[in-house]
Amino acid sequence: MTGGSRTQVVVIGGGQAGLAAGYHLRRLGVDFVILDAQSTPGGAWRHAWDSLRLFSPAAYSSLPGRPMPLQAGQTYPDAGHVVGYLTEYERRYDLPVHRPVRVTGVHHDGEFLRAETDAGVWRTRAVISATGTWWRPFLPAVPGRADFRGRQLHTVEYRSPHDFAGQRVVVVGGGNSGAQIAADLAYETELTWVTQRPPRFLADDIDGRALFDAATARRRALEEGRTDTGGVASLGDIVAVPPVREARDAGRLKAAPMFVRLDRDGVLWADGTRAPADAVIWCTGFRPALSHLASLGLRGVRGHIATEGTRAVDEPRVHLLGYGDWTGPASATLIGVGRPAREAARDIAGLLA
Ligand code: FAD
Repeated sequence: MTGGSRTQVVVIGGGQAGLAAGYHLRRLGVDFVILDAQSTPGGAWRHAWDSLRLFSPAAYSSLPGRPMPLQAGQTYPDAGHVVGYLTEYERRYDLPVHRPVRVTGVHHDGEFLRAETDAGVWRTRAVISATGTWWRPFLPAVPGRADFRGRQLHTVEYRSPHDFAGQRVVVVGGGNSGAQIAADLAYETELTWVTQRPPRFLADDIDGRALFDAATARRRALEEGRTDTGGVASLGDIVAVPPVREARDAGRLKAAPMFVRLDRDGVLWADGTRAPADAVIWCTGFRPALSHLASLGLRGVRGHIATEGTRAVDEPRVHLLGYGDWTGPASATLIGVGRPAREAARDIAGLLA
């Protein structure tokens, strides 16, 4: 695609959030395109480590309109199953996804917005940004990180315990990624699992279903002016999916507190204790991938853009979808993104009218 194309809405990103937006835009009869930097469907799920399992059963992992089918023999589907589901979803609803197209910047252009890409320019009346977080891994600034001679990687680069067989590995992070990767490595490596505070496992019978219910209860409480229930965060940090539960119950998931620095050979705690290491895996989270919106100069704090619901406070033609609770409760989950996607699509349809 070269030269200038026109459409009413450009959706940036063709992962689950972009597809959910497309579903609702189509239902409202809005003209739109989805521009996705990947060459094939599936968004971040294409890049997950081999053993990753959803923390919810398929029935609780569906986008609007089309329930996720069960995966044979699995209560908690794997990432490949999600990629298959998203591939089928965009085909089923005939969503106009253009790939690979990377949006490099969104600019004001009179009554239009202009999306500049590595495959030409789109003029549009509105933008839904749905670019996720996987593409901006976060690593904390820990002293000595540059001195360490072993291998350092982030969650996004981890694939399988076989790559570390027999090695001394330090896994940093007390969230779901840290716990799942530590559990994955617990049998084949000499593992040190490090968390900033003692790990908070959710009760074994709590999974993504209960998390979604907690997020919904919180949204309702806040909407009705009742006391904040604390939502998901009040329950704990780590869903005890079967591999995590097994490793924990086998006594292989004992967490050490956070170390204070690295040196050439490993990590060191304040009391002088050290753990020599061949590799350090940073499961320390993500930031929203928003650099393509920098050209609009929208205000925000801590890497976020100020929003009301999904709409950017400073630019009502721009919506942000997915990313985290700040763009809608549970909006960074498969089941949670449908509702904010519908609200964004309706808001834009109103604007266009
Ligand atoms: P993505 O899947 O990242 O899709 C964004 C798309 O936008 C990508 O294709 C990307 O290439 C593209 N893009 C980025 N920048 C540009 C650009 N400038 N121009 C064009 N395209 C661009 N959720 C659940 O519901 N259940 C779970 O069990 C679960 N487990 C998770 C486990 C891990 C380890 C992680 C990290 C997340 C998990 N999530 C889970 C959360 C969430 O569902 C996923 O992160 C999901 O991938 C987010 O979808 P998205 O569409 O917002 O972003």
